[in-house]
Amino acid sequence: MAQVTVNKLIKRYGNVVAVNEISLQVRDHEFMVFLGPSGCGKTTTLRTIAGLETSQSGDIFIGERRVNDLAPGERDIAFVFQFYALYPHLSVFDNIAFPLRAQRTPHAEVVRRVHAAAATLQMEPLLNRRIRQLSSGEQQRVALGRAMVRQPQVFLMDEPLTNLDAQLRAETRAELKHIQHERGATTIYVTHDQVEAMAMGDRITVMHQGRIQQQGPPMEVYNRPANLFVAGFLGSPPMDIMPAQFSQNGTAALTIGPIRVPISDALRHAIVANGHTTDLAVGMRAEHVAVVPEGTEGAQPVTVFAVEHLGDENVVIVTLGNLRFRAKTGPQATIQEGDTLHVKLPSQRLHVFDTTTGDAIRSPM
Ligand code: ATP
Repeated sequence: MAQVTVNKLIKRYGNVVAVNEISLQVRDHEFMVFLGPSGCGKTTTLRTIAGLETSQSGDIFIGERRVNDLAPGERDIAFVFQFYALYPHLSVFDNIAFPLRAQRTPHAEVVRRVHAAAATLQMEPLLNRRIRQLSSGEQQRVALGRAMVRQPQVFLMDEPLTNLDAQLRAETRAELKHIQHERGATTIYVTHDQVEAMAMGDRITVMHQGRIQQQGPPMEVYNRPANLFVAGFLGSPPMDIMPAQFSQNGTAALTIGPIRVPISDALRHAIVANGHTTDLAVGMRAEHVAVVPEGTEGAQPVTVFAVEHLGDENVVIVTLGNLRFRAKTGPQATIQEGDTLHVKLPSQRLHVFDTTTGDAIRSPM
């Protein structure tokens, strides 16, 4: 296995800058997820690492080798793309075995590896079927199997689970992660699905408009989003973002709609150091907004706008003047649209952002 290094990569299509000077390093054995909305440049970055696109500038290293000028077949990578190229006239077995036979692997070893991959992907009963006799989800699993039987330096995967139904998707997600850890295979995995990214990645690279927005372990990116884009993209439901005013009359505080929330000295310092901006944005996660009994100190009355019953919890969307935000409750809570609830905002867990740059303003940890 090997690390992958990308250095100042630029890829343009005419006037469109798909990848805008991206530098990153995927460590040996790491499961790295490229996450971002459609069009952010994640597929182009992956395809360039694979050698399927040529960049205008920048370097790509796999291990110690600079691979810019190597053909895809010379880069020792296995990739699985959304649009899997299978051989429709061949059986599932022969499709999965294809790369092994191309490498002249002994027959007994081919049989062993194909059966092992098929067992993992729950495809053993289908090994003799032709590709055209399979559903698109089954075809996608064959494409995964074909990559899994190989032992390349690096796996590159572009939304490889999109055609699977919810249950199989969750199962295959767990299998892929398990196999990756077992084999220690350096993997780059592209998705626009933040749940998938959180579930699978050792680290996540969040991308937007051809640039890296933040890189880090899932919980770090979730708990300390670097800017408004990341805050709004990661999390289900996403973070609620609201305008806030900073003031220092008496105690330092943020005013969010009708609510004045005192803030720590450290956060006050950070806001002042950022340039004294009074107009800020504040982000809150639903799980940090506490629904409390009436009369609790600091509680605010809010009106229930809608309730989403998710089985294991409820997401309650509430309004307060012009503000609308979310809170989470246990599944037993009997809350209905139009009810009045009392909530406390999480003064210790507010995320503060500069509205001009979009960057997070943070007190040191
Ligand atoms: P998706 O999830 O929809 O695949 P993405 O984040 O992977 O999106 P890319 O496919 O990398 O994004 O595209 C990045 C930008 O480059 C987009 O604006 C896209 O329209 C543009 N682009 C990609 N491929 C081409 C191409 N062959 N010709 C012209 N523009 C392209």
